[in-house]
Amino acid sequence: MERPERVAVIGVGILGACVGWNLSRQGAEVVFIDAGQPGEGVTNWSFSWVNASNKTARKTYFDLNVAGMAAHRELAGIIGPEPWWHPSGHLRWAGDPAAQTKLLETTELLADWGYRVELSTGAEVLRHLEPGLAIPDEVPVVFYRDEAWVHGRHLVRRLVDQAVASGAELRSGTAVRAIGTAADGSIQTVTLSDGGTLAVDVVVNAAGPSASHLAGLVTRRLPMRAEPGVVARVSCAQVPLHRAMHAPHIEIRPDGDGSVVLHSREIDALIDTAENPAELGWLLHELARHAVPELGGCPVAETRVANRPIPADGFPSVGAVPSVPGYYEAVSHSGITLGPVIGRLLASEILSGETDELLADFRPERFAP
Ligand SMILES: Cc1cc2nc3c(=O)[nH]c(=O)nc-3n(C[C@H](O)[C@H](O)[C@H](O)COP(=O)(O)OP(=O)(O)OC[C@H]3O[C@@H](n4cnc5c(N)ncnc54)[C@H](O)[C@@H]3O)c2cc1C
Repeated sequence: MERPERVAVIGVGILGACVGWNLSRQGAEVVFIDAGQPGEGVTNWSFSWVNASNKTARKTYFDLNVAGMAAHRELAGIIGPEPWWHPSGHLRWAGDPAAQTKLLETTELLADWGYRVELSTGAEVLRHLEPGLAIPDEVPVVFYRDEAWVHGRHLVRRLVDQAVASGAELRSGTAVRAIGTAADGSIQTVTLSDGGTLAVDVVVNAAGPSASHLAGLVTRRLPMRAEPGVVARVSCAQVPLHRAMHAPHIEIRPDGDGSVVLHSREIDALIDTAENPAELGWLLHELARHAVPELGGCPVAETRVANRPIPADGFPSVGAVPSVPGYYEAVSHSGITLGPVIGRLLASEILSGETDELLADFRPERFAP
């Protein structure tokens, strides 16, 4: 395909923002379109842990996530780290012997793959890193020093503002309702819920949990899993922790601005049984209080159930769909970790037609009808 005239990035969460920012930086004409406001989708309701230690199921997926971590560091050097980038490492420990054995096995594998892991004890963590934890002295704790957490909404805002300052257009509060194609199937227009129609020759499907619906607008089948998660924010006058962590049963991280984010896979499993998400928020708070007692005095401010944007086999779908010239996908779980690397690689594919080996296992064609 020729270099595109005008690209519509549909969905402005972390993935759309990263793709659009990279395109705009390389001189492409970009229009960002979001049904709501940039960064307020699942990107704002994520645990937002930048890591590859939890991605050992497939080596190529691990490698992609390691590249994602490096791309974040590079991005922070270009756009500045404040207030979104928090490279404070990640702590993980387990509550029972079986889980401890599994954690230590994974740690060995990660070390074999060249990942930076440091083993210490609860007592050392209390002394040197996190004095506010309730943690047994002898428990083994893994410290992933190169990991981080990201404030997704602030990052999206920074990227979109920079792109708009260099000529990109932002249409928020309006959804893409239809995508028009020419007789050969190539992209021609997008029609918006505010009644407008835009002439474009490329669309990027970065609609997060709605990506399957958006794919349907070009009769493309993108099967996705239904895997919701629940996240609570608690308000703290003084945040009693310095970094993100996996304690037994609960994940906790600072969120900036006197706020702490809580998540737990165990509480996700109760989503269907709860009448009101607030009940789940209280359960998260109860678990968090056991790991960080001072959180007991911090009230739950907000709880939200969000859908993870996960293609059916659990891996990202990134790149062109050859049967629809001009249509590209940027759909992924772990999108916080992967946003900057997917943004860079997909923008380069759109502009040059060249695909990168890092994405070879994650191409959209694997979901051909
Ligand atoms: C509980 C939970 C915990 C998570 N923890 C982590 C983690 O620790 N680390 C990690 O890396 N990832 C994590 N994730 C995953 C990560 O949050 C997502 O992969 C990432 O935020 C996806 O970003 P996105 O840009 O694809 O989607 P979104 O942020 O949802 O953005 C999509 C946008 O598309 C817009 N949109 C939808 N349909 C249309 C339409 N028709 N027209 C126009 N706009 C449209 C929406 O308004 C939305 O703003 C977690 C997710 C959940 C739910």
